[in-house]
Amino acid sequence: GVALALENLRKTYKGGVEAVKGINLKVKQGDFFALLGPNGAGKSTTIGIISSLVHKTSGKVEVFGHDLDKELELAKLCIGLVPQEFNFNQFETVLQIVVNQAGYYGVPRAEAHIRAKKYLTQLDLWQKRDAKARELSGGMKRRLMIARALMHEPQLLILDEPTAGVDIELRRSMWEFLQRINQDGVTIILTTHYLEEAEMLCRNIGIIDNGVLVECTSMKALLAKL
Ligand code: ADP
Ligand code: ADP
Repeated sequence: GVALALENLRKTYKGGVEAVKGINLKVKQGDFFALLGPNGAGKSTTIGIISSLVHKTSGKVEVFGHDLDKELELAKLCIGLVPQEFNFNQFETVLQIVVNQAGYYGVPRAEAHIRAKKYLTQLDLWQKRDAKARELSGGMKRRLMIARALMHEPQLLILDEPTAGVDIELRRSMWEFLQRINQDGVTIILTTHYLEEAEMLCRNIGIIDNGVLVECTSMKALLAKL
């Protein structure tokens, strides 16, 4: 099946910046897909539109066949988003943050605790469950955002520059974790401006520049060309 389909997607911000200029893209279910491009290329805007945080100017977005304009709630259930910036309540504990997130999606409390233990353990945060978010290191906060995004067990995980500013050791362990959940069947789309990261992880890649998808191919084919 198709996890994500974008048809002629456009976004012009108030003030006239054309951030996305007619993107067409299909990402298959089970894929590990990188959206690569320099700063200001339109990656965050594209991801923002897919996760319904940014209003598109025109075009069509379908997430597992659910049109965002017609079946927004169903589409949202399919998506787990890991934004670039920390946006949790700094005064809540790690456990509260993930359990509350499950609550927003209607996951029963007992099940939420089972998932919290599972994902916090896998992300090496279980020992930190009673720490407040503001007490965590930057790397721990990033892992917490991933755990939080998985609590409703989405079919599609979208990460915006997940390893920006992360040291190499943590980057590797995050890569391993993402590969594992991809093997478990979760489709992954991440943005990055490191080709190395895309190369390590991704099967397919879209290169975006100045709001245009200039290339969309398999990682293998891209590397053969370089
Ligand atoms: P990337 O994530 O690839 O760095 P962005 O999607 O953040 O790119 O930005 C694409 C373009 O849109 C840039 O020119 C940026 O300055 C502009 N932009 C992003 N957000 C806004 C906004 N809220 N209002 C106006 N312009 C914006
Ligand atoms: P991101 O692009 O990932 O959202 P930024 O640091 O570029 O992160 O943007 C921070 C905030 O400023 C966001 O709310 C974004 O929408 C807004 N913003 C970014 N670029 C512009 C711009 N050129 N004009 C107005 N607002 C912008």
